[in-house]
Amino acid sequence: MRKIAVLGATGSIGVQTLDVVARHPDKFHVTALTAHSNANELFAYVRRFRPQAAGLVKETEIPEDLRFCEWFFGEDVNSRVLEAVKPDDALCAVVGIAGLPAVMTALKVCKRILLANKEALVTGGQLVMEEARKRNVPILPVDSEHSAIFQCLQGGVEPKGLILTASGGALRTWDKQAIENATVDQVLSHPTWRMGKKITVDCATMMNKGLEVIEAHYLFGMPEERISVVVHPQSIIHSLVEFVDGSMLAQMGCTDMRVPISYALGYPERIESGAKELDLLSMGALNFEKPDMDRFPCLALARGALREGAHAMITLNGANEEAVGAFIAGRIPFGAIAKIVERILNMTSFSRVSDVEAVYTIDRDARARAMREIGRFE
Ligand code: NDP
Ligand code: MG
Repeated sequence: MRKIAVLGATGSIGVQTLDVVARHPDKFHVTALTAHSNANELFAYVRRFRPQAAGLVKETEIPEDLRFCEWFFGEDVNSRVLEAVKPDDALCAVVGIAGLPAVMTALKVCKRILLANKEALVTGGQLVMEEARKRNVPILPVDSEHSAIFQCLQGGVEPKGLILTASGGALRTWDKQAIENATVDQVLSHPTWRMGKKITVDCATMMNKGLEVIEAHYLFGMPEERISVVVHPQSIIHSLVEFVDGSMLAQMGCTDMRVPISYALGYPERIESGAKELDLLSMGALNFEKPDMDRFPCLALARGALREGAHAMITLNGANEEAVGAFIAGRIPFGAIAKIVERILNMTSFSRVSDVEAVYTIDRDARARAMREIGRFE
């Protein structure tokens, strides 16, 4: 029986994780659940899974029947819940840089980390991977592309390069002018995946793929120039690995996150996920396109930040989180997201980042600058 904490339990990944876990009551026991402010939904999961501890960032009155479990509140709920319960596995599915402190604590108290949150590696990749190596804690990818690569690497042979596939997001076929003024509803209707709002906007700017190049760089120790991106609108091939002999291995499946979630949960075994199997005959053709850096500049911004180093990546992430939040709130047009991120990167002088505290200082600074830029639109 593995004891599991699900951080960000009420989100898109959290809910799908609990769906897979519930299919295997003989294998997994949920011992901790967290969320930000969606108390009623979290209460329902606490009633159903009966964890030892639970937490909400936003403090709320706890119903009488849920006081069997230990409750935590505040910005550091993820860390406090993990420290209280010390689960075997921490599945980190919170959104944004809140994933970084959660992962740093999980590295100290858990046996394995199942990582959906990519912002932890974008902001603290080197610190996280060093700590993981030191403590011998495996970080198993949940992000579908990285799970695909991880699955393709099970033979143990060093790859020559990695190829991340991208759906292209909701605006893949739009012209530049239309992209500038895309509405929140248009951006949030993703063609192939159902996900949380922040990542869906990141898919439309293609910042998501940029964050994933950084994530792949850290997870697989692959230099930036050997990680390529190809747009594949059907999202059937989830990513590929290239070898010296000219072979490529790809992992395929339906667009159902329960596949990579169950792979991380069951690893090294495969367990039933609830996902439908892929019907090859109904699929028709698979297409591949070159990403358009002119219409979608965020991918190039993220690659540039990776080449530049940690300070630039933290800045990129902080500015992007603020800009995406402002776009969803209707404060800036869609086209402003990339411009704000680029402007903040251009006005920052980069220095070495040696500890986690420095990450948070740089993040706060990037957000403050981004907020000033956002203010200019109002
Ligand atoms: P959602 O917005 O759907 O869910 C986020 C979850 O995190 C919610 O449960 C939210 O609680 C909770 N949360 C937010 N901040 C905190 C915090 N500080 N402490 C505790 N809980 C918090 O996001 P997704 O599930 O879409 O994405 C989660 C992460 O996984 C992101 O980093 C994303 O990039 C990554 N990912 C997601 C994929 C997907 O298919 N959705 C695919 C690949 C990666 P509340 O409900 O109360 O707001
Ligand atoms: Mg992904």
